[in-house]
This record gives sequence, C-alpha cells and structure tokens, in this order.
Amino acid sequence: MDVSTETDNQPPATTYKRVMLKISGEALMGDQGFGLHPPTVQRIAREVKSVHDLGVEICMVIGGGNIFRGLSGSAQGMERTTADYMGMLATVMNALAMQSALEDLGVFTRVISAIRMDEVCEPYIRRRAVRHLEKKRVCIFAAGTGNPYFTTDTAATLRASEMKCEAIFKGTKVDGVYDKDPARHADAKRYDHVTFDDVLARRLGVMDASAIALARDNNLPIIVFSLDEPGGFRGILAGRGTYTKVEG
Ligand code: UDP
Repeated sequence: MDVSTETDNQPPATTYKRVMLKISGEALMGDQGFGLHPPTVQRIAREVKSVHDLGVEICMVIGGGNIFRGLSGSAQGMERTTADYMGMLATVMNALAMQSALEDLGVFTRVISAIRMDEVCEPYIRRRAVRHLEKKRVCIFAAGTGNPYFTTDTAATLRASEMKCEAIFKGTKVDGVYDKDPARHADAKRYDHVTFDDVLARRLGVMDASAIALARDNNLPIIVFSLDEPGGFRGILAGRGTYTKVEG
C-alpha cells in the first residue's frame, strides 16, 4: 500500500476504494456512561469526513450498546427476541445521530435499515445501497441484520460482504488486538497481524465468533484501530499508525 505524508498538504494516498467502518454504540456516549454525546458523535463524523474527502466510499454500522443490549434485557427477565428488537431500534437512533452530524459537515448520508420504517429511513435494498456508494454517499446500515440473536459485528460483516468492501475497519478504544486486556495488564502485547483462526481459537475478543467466521469465509480482512486517536482513521487508510490486521 502507498504510504505518504501530509506535510506538503497533499492528501495521503490510499489504495482502498470501499470500506466498512464498524463502531460500537458505546463509542458515541463519550464519558457519560449512557446514551448519545453529540460532541463525540460530531468528532467521529469529522474522522469519517476526512476519509470521505480522500474519495473512499464509506459504509458504516453503528452498534446500539449505549442505549440497549438484548442480552442484558433478557438477563433481567425480558423475552429475548423482543429485547433484541429493542437493541436493533437503538442502532437506528445512533445511525440517525451520525447522519445528522455528517450532513452538518456537508457529507450526504443515507440511513438504510434492515427493518422497514419508511418515514424514518430507507429500507435495505442492495442495489440501491451500491448506487448510493457510487454516488459517494455514506451509507449507514441500521437495525443490524434485522434478526434477533445476532450482533452488529455480524451485521457489519454481512453488509461489508454484500457491498464488496475491501476491509472492515473496527474502531475501538484501543489501537489493536492484544493478548490480554491492555487496560488491566501493563505487559499486554499488541499483535500486528493475527489470523481469523487464532482469533477464534484464542477467543481474542475482536468480534463475536459468527462475525469472525463470516469474515473468514468471505476473505474480508478486519483492521482494528483506535478511534480515539485524532486523524487515526484517515492515517490507517494510508497505511500509517498502529493497528492489528486480522486476515486469513
Ligand atoms: N441486535 C440484534 N440483531 C442484529 C444486531 C443487533 O438482535 O443483527 C441487537 C442485540 O440485542 C444487540 C443490540 O441489537 O445487543 C445492539 O447491538 P450490539 O450489541 O452489536 O451493539 P454494540 O455492542 O456494537 O454497541
């Protein structure tokens, strides 16, 4: 991959044409511990715009864990599928917040839902979504896969496969995949590269097992990087910065 600097005001070269950015709902809550923190949403929107400015076609999936998670609902006695549908609806709220922040920056954005809610956003129609991407609109895929018992990591992998993205960029709080939790262990070691099978066998906690298996079966690399690093997403697209690449 081409690597260049931005010192001479030239945008960095990137070989990526179409990518999926997956972020958890918690990435949008700032330090609040719950819900949406608009300045944080705006900060992430600026990161997305900086990559969009390079001409890269961007798909996004945003989780819903900052608002509601099906598993925790069912642990407290709710019927699981109902709780999961509530989780999926939470992802729609996050997607709308991100759409609003991106459009404030002049980036045309479509929210595309796996569950029909025509007054709010578009239904998922694959060819239509591809057309949006070709027209350089950011596509935010909401409501997960539309099915209970899945996660938005699986939704990101599924949509990335359908949209023929070259990679999934998983923005997290840490700059890659570690052998143990770097927040709790000072000697935790970051991997530059791991295989899908390593992630599954060693339960490395990149994404849930269904998402990893789907990415493996579709040869879709996952790049884990820190979303807290300003300019991090754009840098990683140009091959700079620290990250872990998960692939075959
Ligand atoms: N969910 C679901 N099917 C999907 C995607 C999500 O049922 O295809 C529900 C599930 O209850 C999940 C919640 O939506 O807990 C929020 O998604 P997720 O936990 O993946 O969000 P994140 O952890 O990324 O914020």
